[in-house]
Amino acid sequence: MVDMDTLVSLCKRRGFIFQSSEIYGGFGSAWDYGPLGVELKRNIKNVWWRDLVQNREDIVGLDASILMSPRVWIASGHVEKFTDPLVDCKSCKRRFKADQVGDRCPECDGELTEARQFNTMFKTFVGPVEDEASVAYLRPETAQGIFVNFLNVQSATRRKLPFGIAQIGKAFRNEITPGNFTFRTREFEQMELEYFVKPGTDEEWFDYWLEERLSWYKRYGIREGNLHLREHGPEELSHYSKRTCDIEYNFPFGWSELEGIANRTDFDLHRHAEFSGKDMTYFDEETGERIYPYVIEPSGGIDRAALAFLVDAHHEEEVRGRKRVLLRLHHDLAPVKVAVLPLLRNRPEIVALAKEIARDLRPHFVVMYDDTASIGRLYRRQDEIGTPYCVTVDVQSLEDRAVTVRERDSMEQVRPPIAELKEMLLDKLAS
Ligand code: ATP
Repeated sequence: MVDMDTLVSLCKRRGFIFQSSEIYGGFGSAWDYGPLGVELKRNIKNVWWRDLVQNREDIVGLDASILMSPRVWIASGHVEKFTDPLVDCKSCKRRFKADQVGDRCPECDGELTEARQFNTMFKTFVGPVEDEASVAYLRPETAQGIFVNFLNVQSATRRKLPFGIAQIGKAFRNEITPGNFTFRTREFEQMELEYFVKPGTDEEWFDYWLEERLSWYKRYGIREGNLHLREHGPEELSHYSKRTCDIEYNFPFGWSELEGIANRTDFDLHRHAEFSGKDMTYFDEETGERIYPYVIEPSGGIDRAALAFLVDAHHEEEVRGRKRVLLRLHHDLAPVKVAVLPLLRNRPEIVALAKEIARDLRPHFVVMYDDTASIGRLYRRQDEIGTPYCVTVDVQSLEDRAVTVRERDSMEQVRPPIAELKEMLLDKLAS
């Protein structure tokens, strides 16, 4: 498996991920996604949205605002309970999460203070006056935007249970110990589904979503042996949860959470009904009763998913005595689908034909044209960023109007006529 230093360096060199504010020395575990990283992330979000929202009848989407009434976070329990136990080192003054250290400071072996609770929500002020009445929070999860819109969505869409509301968006947590590259940051993106079900059917739906989400990661290329489930013990469960199971990935720094599936019961709807005074129940036409639906929540981080896809795709092999590094990314996730490369960059007719081919393919998929190195280097660059197909234009192409298409993983080459290239690539990329 690739080590983190190698991956971080590839990400920077090739334009996947840069350190935030790097010219100022970086900023507290914040990261910027470069030209390839932003495509990878968009692709992850797109396949999630396609699979969960667009290809299903029972789930609709939502895009709620990040800033919400502070009462939301009182009702949800976050103001009171969204805390981590924190300890300070009396000598070097560093801070740690109490559950991640032993009795002494891991940096200098100094004595640690007693643990105290630290709320990890970011606080800010809305408007010009910085007083208690204007406090607002940056949302620590996207889920609450869904719960407070439950009635709006249900009455606008006339959905019957079971149905889900899905949302993708930024969340913020003032993590005490961010780290491991993009794994734990203070600003991150979540993809969350709140699936509302009849009470009594929640345990079955929990199992359904656990299986569904696990197979989703496998479908997009994560190897089975690098995924496992970890059940939360009773002492670890969040205040709203009846059962939680994490999908963990075998990261280079150890097994860690990729996505959590929680049975949030009817906790959130109940609490919002209580705090807002609004009726948050659902009318069950079959029984004629008003009920609070139960909620199953698969909640994943896009940054963690991107990291896992990169780690899992990274592969090194030896080809004719030389090291070849490649990202075996799923076609749907690869940032660039097709690279068009002229074999000789000093032959204007070849360059012109290659550019023409790139232009014709561009409306159909993300294409990169590159003529800044020899063909061997150009192939290596594309392998390293996971481009599934390279199209090479050579001298013969000028006469026979055919090009060489090289597949990333097998390095097999075929030579289709240019007239059939687009159809062939569309076909291959869809498989
Ligand atoms: P952890 O135990 O790692 O702190 P969590 O259990 O607090 O995570 P959840 O509240 O279940 O996380 O959030 C759902 C998902 O959001 C996580 O599975 C993860 O993918 C993502 N996520 C949570 N916190 C962060 C973070 N600080 N940086 C990046 N992604 C995060």
